[in-house]
Amino acid sequence: MNTQKDIIIIGGGAAGFFAAINIAEQHPELSVAILERGKEGLQKVKISGGGRCNVTHAEFIPSELVQNYPRGEKELLGPFHRFMTGDTIAWFEERGVELKIEDDGRMFPVSNSSQTIIDCFLNEAEKHNVDVLYNHSVKTVKALENEFVIETSHGDFQSKKLLIATGSNPKVWKLLEDLGHTIINPVPSLFTFDIKDHRIKDIPGVVAKNVEIKVVGTDLESNGPLLVTHVGMSAPAILKLSAFGAVELAKMNYNFKIVINFIQLDFKSCLEELKNFKQEFAKKTVVKLTQFDLPKRLWKQLVLASDISETTRWADLNKQQLEAFSNQLTSAVFQVTGKSTFKEEFVTAGGIDLKEVNFKTFESKRIPNLYFAGEVINVDAVTGGFNFQNAWTSAYIASASIVSH
Ligand SMILES: Cc1cc2nc3c(=O)[nH]c(=O)nc-3n(C[C@H](O)[C@H](O)[C@H](O)COP(=O)(O)OP(=O)(O)OC[C@H]3O[C@@H](n4cnc5c(N)ncnc54)[C@H](O)[C@@H]3O)c2cc1C
Repeated sequence: MNTQKDIIIIGGGAAGFFAAINIAEQHPELSVAILERGKEGLQKVKISGGGRCNVTHAEFIPSELVQNYPRGEKELLGPFHRFMTGDTIAWFEERGVELKIEDDGRMFPVSNSSQTIIDCFLNEAEKHNVDVLYNHSVKTVKALENEFVIETSHGDFQSKKLLIATGSNPKVWKLLEDLGHTIINPVPSLFTFDIKDHRIKDIPGVVAKNVEIKVVGTDLESNGPLLVTHVGMSAPAILKLSAFGAVELAKMNYNFKIVINFIQLDFKSCLEELKNFKQEFAKKTVVKLTQFDLPKRLWKQLVLASDISETTRWADLNKQQLEAFSNQLTSAVFQVTGKSTFKEEFVTAGGIDLKEVNFKTFESKRIPNLYFAGEVINVDAVTGGFNFQNAWTSAYIASASIVSH
């Protein structure tokens, strides 16, 4: 069997569906097919955001939005000026899906269900006659002079324009490498840190509202909330480091030291504060008098780690103890020994080398009429809806370019 289409899209995920719908809606005269290896598509959309699908993030300034992309920051600035958060909200609203903003800026469908997004895509694809072919796993891609020949598990296909939207799929990256593209070695991004340490062993669930973390021996640093888990540490302060440090931390084999400042003071200023407390609260027990807006259980652990007993009163603290305590509060060192997945969510850093993609069109700089969208490119973001925004933006611009010439 040999099927001819005007445009073929490989991959029926977020980017693939978004592109297919945009093309088919604006150009009903073109035949558009999605080749999807699964028996269903949009599987990541389904499980995304804990089943709620964090569609995008309420950040409306392109120069601010790009800062959430450890890979792609420079390249996405132009594309975001053409299609970003506001356009995403409008796109879904025009198709009957209302989005809402949560306190931290994440945006979800008001239904709180990723199925709403899936239903929207499936309905739109059907309405505009996109041929969605499931169980079609792409095996090879040949770039001939005037067309592509795509061999799948269910027959061959031909098209003049080809969009690759296969996410982080190693087999497809290999195919693209064979076609002459450079693939940046994939490594995981968005993970939590495994830490075995007596200070946090018994306090899972504790949240420090705003910490500053540095990775020893690197320039990596981040700030934000920190959550103690059963196996280590998580929450934005850690996840940001895992994303921005994805390549560096992989090279360190996920074995490194971090230094945490739990309060927003340096060692010296903290020491001064502690000396004031010593005067002010002389008769009170140190463990019981939590300061700096820290959670009680964390405060206690940091007190004990400073060689201060549970019954010691502020007046009894000697110079050494005060310094040790200031050290624990402002530069506590923890050894990271590995990584774990964050709520099953992960993205892959790596993919098509950014230098080989024209970000005005999302066309390959190596092979004419070949386009990319979504995670297949070496773009990824921190958690919060930014990874999908990349899928929507790249798919939108690729679809506009595909039909424009
Ligand atoms: C558990 C989890 C939760 C997440 N939650 C969020 C979230 O809430 N918000 C957010 O912004 N991001 C989230 N992400 C990240 C987000 O899902 C991805 O960045 C996004 O799905 C990438 O879209 P894509 O279209 O590029 O790739 P995908 O959605 O992965 O789609 C690729 C498609 O290509 C198909 N395919 C692959 N190889 C072939 C082949 N050879 N032949 C045919 N088809 C093929 C795959 O089966 C798949 O359907 C989450 C990720 C995970 C794992």
